[in-house]
Amino acid sequence: MEKIKCGMCGKHITDKTEVEYSEWYTEFFCDPKHALTYYMDQAQSRPLEFDKDYLKAIGVKMEDGLLYTK
Ligand SMILES: [Zn+2]
Repeated sequence: MEKIKCGMCGKHITDKTEVEYSEWYTEFFCDPKHALTYYMDQAQSRPLEFDKDYLKAIGVKMEDGLLYTK
């Protein structure tokens, strides 16, 4: 038997923690916030920078305040 640890912070999972389980990642988390951080990291999700070169790199364009696909 092996103690299960939080997939984000490595803390042991106990009945005193608000455990979150992901069937997709088959991963346990000691706190819903740790689960969210993990999911955001896995999805490489981040706030969008309205930097021209960056927008170009991801294939979109900002014109008159609206975001367009190219
Ligand atoms: Zn944790």
